[in-house]
Amino acid sequence: MEITFLGVGEAFDENLPNTSMLVRTKYQDKPVTVLLDCGYSVPPKFWQLGLHVETVDGIWISHFHADHAFGLPALLVRFWEEKRTTDLHILGQKGIESFVLRCLDLAYPNFLPRLRFSLRFMEVEPGEPVAALGLSWKTAVNDHSQRDLALRLDAEGKSVFYSGDGRPTSATRALAEGVHLIVHEAFHLSKDTPGHETIAGCIEMAIATRAKRLALVHIQRQVRRERFDEIKELANSVKNLEVLIPEPGDRVTL
Ligand SMILES: [Zn+2]
Ligand SMILES: [Zn+2]
Repeated sequence: MEITFLGVGEAFDENLPNTSMLVRTKYQDKPVTVLLDCGYSVPPKFWQLGLHVETVDGIWISHFHADHAFGLPALLVRFWEEKRTTDLHILGQKGIESFVLRCLDLAYPNFLPRLRFSLRFMEVEPGEPVAALGLSWKTAVNDHSQRDLALRLDAEGKSVFYSGDGRPTSATRALAEGVHLIVHEAFHLSKDTPGHETIAGCIEMAIATRAKRLALVHIQRQVRRERFDEIKELANSVKNLEVLIPEPGDRVTL
């Protein structure tokens, strides 16, 4: 399993694109590619990869905030421009279908019938794991201002956990147990912010859940800019856990 970070930023970062990543794995010897979240500043980073138009098999949307979902209409319409014909899976919490169709219709009115590929929506609610695209999809509710589902993907004996936005809950901790990589939003260094986790809190969670690696994303722009050395120092001081602070374009192989 390989993870490529397209963006690692929060909602309003002037430099870093919104947090988003590509997960690549294999199913029956065929490549499978899934995009996790697609905020409004993600599509250009995605297009820069120069992937073939049919490459992405599925897109996961953690919650309905714009920095995690509003890039979808641009992505879908460019797929149309580039003549995609393969079905595209879109997975998320209950309401994902009406949310995405509303977004598309607001951005490009009446465009849906023009797509030459079908959108196949799937809800992945907590306690109702889904097998799709050769991956196992499991979710748990995080503590965020809007309902957010943390996701765990398992394939080929490897696993990744992605928080979306929000503070861990007992359910997301259970979901993350023993994963190869936790990608967690870490909005602040240590300041308590409702609906968000701190860097210190993410480290504590990753150790408690016995994860192998932790990637800190969605760090508040000013904190990341002005206190990067402190963050690095804290990350490097952790024993028995590799803590990454990825940049856009970075890849992690599990
Ligand atoms: Zn966000
Ligand atoms: Zn959010």
